Amino acid sequence: MPVDLIIFDCDGVLVDSEVISCRAHADVLTRHGYPITSEQVFERFLGRSTRQANIEIESELGRKLPEAYHGDLQDELFRAFEADLEAIRGIHDVLDTVTQHVCVASSGSHQRMQVSLGSTGLYERLAPNIFSASQVKHGKPAPDLFLFAASEMGVPPHRCVVIEDSLAGIAGARAAGMTVFGFHGGSHCDDGHAETLRQAGADLTFDDMRQLPELVRRVEADALAG
Ligand SMILES: [Mg+2]
Repeated sequence: MPVDLIIFDCDGVLVDSEVISCRAHADVLTRHGYPITSEQVFERFLGRSTRQANIEIESELGRKLPEAYHGDLQDELFRAFEADLEAIRGIHDVLDTVTQHVCVASSGSHQRMQVSLGSTGLYERLAPNIFSASQVKHGKPAPDLFLFAASEMGVPPHRCVVIEDSLAGIAGARAAGMTVFGFHGGSHCDDGHAETLRQAGADLTFDDMRQLPELVRRVEADALAG
């Protein structure tokens, strides 16, 4: 199987954003009457869309989150991204090296990606092939976003490799019929994360982005041999 398209998740795969993002969410949710720690945000909402997270939080609260919450969260998140966010180590080299088409498929909004990818020098390299869950009906773990991205790129699902760091993302990629690599090189990943990703159905796992071109070659060769 030749691989024609590599679909990158954004948070935790292109940019090392998850620790920053979980901290911002915990701070602002707590400030608005929903006490929660960074660790709890990580466990419950990592890789899922804001829309789905908000529905769950509001049903527990028994009321809408206040209007100011959304603006406060965005302000805090974008401020923290611009101050502290870094690209995943090696990703710029990988983008120089891979011969496949590349695109982004993220649960985050386009505006969030403009800030996160923009502040790490990745936005201009990847635009316009940047797709958000806001463009499909069902976000991850549904397959919709991956299928939409592949279709926009003109590549059939079985020729796509997805790079994901979250359980929701791995489930979505598998449901889309794509090969999925679990990436656990983000600073939010603990020792057990690789095993968690494998159990969720990742075809393989890796923690150094610079390995990616070789791993894609290996998958292509295995498919030929198999
Ligand atoms: Mg992610």
